[in-house]
Amino acid sequence: MDQQLLLALIIAAGVGVLASLAILHRRRRDSADASRESPIAAPREGVKLCPSCAAENLWTDSRCVRCGRKLPDAQRAVW
Ligand SMILES: [Zn+2]
Repeated sequence: MDQQLLLALIIAAGVGVLASLAILHRRRRDSADASRESPIAAPREGVKLCPSCAAENLWTDSRCVRCGRKLPDAQRAVW
């Protein structure tokens, strides 16, 4: 009976350690993703980047707010 209890405690401790490691790993991966910034202008959710001046425009805009160039269609955007 004592052995079974000890075994259960060891298993519970192992599960806890594994869960902590998984959480730490995910948090580290998330912060790495957040700190990684591409030098190339990439489309972001809700904004359309101007291909010529890289200004942020609303995805509903058809022309750039800064330079007035026609913006590409957002229909092909992948979310
Ligand atoms: Zn522009």
